[in-house]
Amino acid sequence: PRLANQIAAGEVVERPASVIKELVENSMDAGATRIDVDIEAGGVKLMRVRDNGGGIEQEDMPLALSRHATSKIIELEDLENVGTLGFRGEALASISSVSRLTMLSNTEEKGAGWKAQSEGRDMDVEVSPAPHPKGTTVEVRDLFFNTPARRKFLRTEKTEFGHLEEVIKRQSLSRFDVGFYLNHNGKAIHALKPCSSQLERERRVASVCGPAFMQNALHIDTEAAGLRLWGWVALPTFSRSQGDLQHFFVNGRVIRDKLVSHAVRQAYRDVLFHGRHPAFVLYLELDPAIVDVNVHPTKHEVRFRDGRTVHDFLFRSLHRLLADVRP
Ligand code: ADP
Ligand code: MG
Repeated sequence: PRLANQIAAGEVVERPASVIKELVENSMDAGATRIDVDIEAGGVKLMRVRDNGGGIEQEDMPLALSRHATSKIIELEDLENVGTLGFRGEALASISSVSRLTMLSNTEEKGAGWKAQSEGRDMDVEVSPAPHPKGTTVEVRDLFFNTPARRKFLRTEKTEFGHLEEVIKRQSLSRFDVGFYLNHNGKAIHALKPCSSQLERERRVASVCGPAFMQNALHIDTEAAGLRLWGWVALPTFSRSQGDLQHFFVNGRVIRDKLVSHAVRQAYRDVLFHGRHPAFVLYLELDPAIVDVNVHPTKHEVRFRDGRTVHDFLFRSLHRLLADVRP
């Protein structure tokens, strides 16, 4: 099974950023309200994700590290209604097959904790007592130490950290109720407290997307036929020196979708006659039964049961918003 893990790992574990994505998703799935991410050397040397979520029972520790073991799908029909981010049960197994992984956890407010370690192909997962507060810490050291071919594809520390930071930024925009704290080589990079008011949410967006984005952004919050669209879109007066600033979330999930970006771009063109890539942080909420999230292993894509309706709703909502402020 370890060999299978290493093959499958290619799908999930491409670089440090993909590890962080999976670990932080697990923490969010576990109900954490605070997630601390400590990174050394762009993630290649160390990635440590600590959360205050529900923790993992001692007897479930080896299971959590084994392939296709997930606590998140009880029946097949659950696939229709996946409420959690991870549901394939392969992330931890894949990550541990290409690194030195230590997991500490505790399910009780008080009392002791436990620890499990696994290293590369080493099959045996031993669980021993180790103090840990309620929640879970996963430490991933020496990524790709046993797969030199994959290590070769890693870029500089700065580049890898940049990708990783991008993941945390996106995730922090997906869950305003969770605190995110990112450190690199002992230095605090982001300290994002949980937000409970609109003002605090706007502060987080400004801190993640830059103050210039927020200063040039219009707020939207509109609803029609069971669809809700809210968030912020920047006017063309906002210019970015580099990179895209396009964040779209469907029911809290990070999504990159052609239909969505087409609708947004179309609205911008129509109203502002501006072909440039628009900048936005947008949230679409709809009945989970009419959106299919299980179409790609990295889960960035969705399939809407009625894509046309979603497209038209996005286009019309943004069109109205932008037309109102057209100079
Ligand atoms: P999946 O998330 O698809 O279930 P993973 O390999 O990512 O698969 O995780 C396997 C299992 O380990 C999860 O189903 C969950 O039960 C447990 N787990 C992993 N990380 C955490 C965490 N931070 N807190 C609590 N449980 C966790
Ligand atoms: Mg997972």
